[in-house]
Amino acid sequence: MKIAIIGGGYVGLVSAACFAEFGVEVMVAETDPVRLDRLRAGVMPIYEPGLEELVAANRAAGRLGFTGALDAAIAGAQAVFIAVGTPSRRGGGHADLTYVFAAAEQVLTSLDHPAVLVTKSTVPVGTGRKLAQLAAALRPDLAVEVASNPEFLREGSAIGDFMRPDRVVVGAETEHARSVLRALYRPLNLIETPILMTGLETAELIKYAANAFLAMKVTFINEMADLCEAVGADVHDVARGMGFDGRIGRKFLHPGPGFGGSCFPKDTLALARIAQDARAPSRLTETVVAVNEARKAGLGRRIIDAAGTELRGRRVAVLGLAFKQGTDDMRDSPAIPAIEALAEAGAHIVAYDPAAMEAAKPLLPASVRYAASAPEAIKGAELLVVMTEWNEFRALAPARLAAAMRGRIIVDLRNIFDPAAMRSAGFVYHGVGRGHAP
Ligand code: NAD
Repeated sequence: MKIAIIGGGYVGLVSAACFAEFGVEVMVAETDPVRLDRLRAGVMPIYEPGLEELVAANRAAGRLGFTGALDAAIAGAQAVFIAVGTPSRRGGGHADLTYVFAAAEQVLTSLDHPAVLVTKSTVPVGTGRKLAQLAAALRPDLAVEVASNPEFLREGSAIGDFMRPDRVVVGAETEHARSVLRALYRPLNLIETPILMTGLETAELIKYAANAFLAMKVTFINEMADLCEAVGADVHDVARGMGFDGRIGRKFLHPGPGFGGSCFPKDTLALARIAQDARAPSRLTETVVAVNEARKAGLGRRIIDAAGTELRGRRVAVLGLAFKQGTDDMRDSPAIPAIEALAEAGAHIVAYDPAAMEAAKPLLPASVRYAASAPEAIKGAELLVVMTEWNEFRALAPARLAAAMRGRIIVDLRNIFDPAAMRSAGFVYHGVGRGHAP
């Protein structure tokens, strides 16, 4: 089988490499000339563990290619996946479908054979229906069927997530579209992955509902963490005590600085708008958005209060810049408002992230300096702020931190350190929800 993927970003590129690994012939169309040049040179434009090797192996096997010419990409393709971005629209939070419809129009005008047009991008409920109408209007001569196949991979473990998903969701309304997608995902039969066949609107809503639910779990445990701090309880034990209950589950109960990234913030906001537009408002989702925004906006204050002193002129080390470890994705990272507030307070910030520094530079205040390693960042620091949970940060021993830093304050927004060990090394340690006694 031959397919095309429009958009060579986190989702398009990973999906392309994984489908190629499944034995499918895949062409990726990418409009960004810098991304395209890198892809052609075998250099990944994004950080994703294992991706470079998978891409190289499948290119060498002749199953994966990259082009800037969309018509070349879709030639002979039985399915064309749209995997372009769907960011928040300015002022309001509806998903911006400009890229999706631009890509769809290009595909529809260039197609010279029947194909299934699949949205892999996260798109609002009703988009598939609109694309079907567009296809009928632009190409009455061709049988173009529309399907929705939302993606659930996580950055940082994207290949494993794509290859061993909890489920595959396919929204389609013709047997032919269903059979094309079933054939593409056939290798997953071996590991008995459930493939859920639904209508278009249902598939589109599953993606938003799943992300909003996970965002709600994170936001709930973040609130419980604040409550733990106020009453002297330990949020990790609360989370464990909750999570052993199979109805709740253990995952996504880790407190932190608030969720960020390219999906949860925009998808919760978009779901709130979808629900309002449908006159079935989701007050829970709206609240999750508001609570998380407030948490991120309050990070600077939280750190300054923990420092217990003026930060003007003081050296602050910040470890972790992307929205989580394992990625270079800076979209909606909590580190951005936190660092802005610290810079505003006059702190001298020295930052380090193993993967995201290049992506971070244009988004952070010009006064931020960047270290070449975690030890370099903490050297001489009066305050250490941990924003993400890279293993190399976890591995920093208390004695080493004490020897390298000038001050003795740690704000650990991911709870990667052992509070008792830090305290006995002389640190004033602030975690998240770890029972400061009342
Ligand atoms: P991205 O910005 O990394 O990639 C999109 C790519 O599409 C860019 O490289 C862009 O240049 C390219 N592009 C845009 N218009 C094009 C066109 N007409 N022709 C060819 N290329 C074009 O975005 P992403 O993170 O991969 O997300 C894509 C979609 O997948 C979004 O809807 C997102 O919500 C969804 N999603 C993302 C993740 C994730 O973890 N990133 C997970 C699940 C779902």
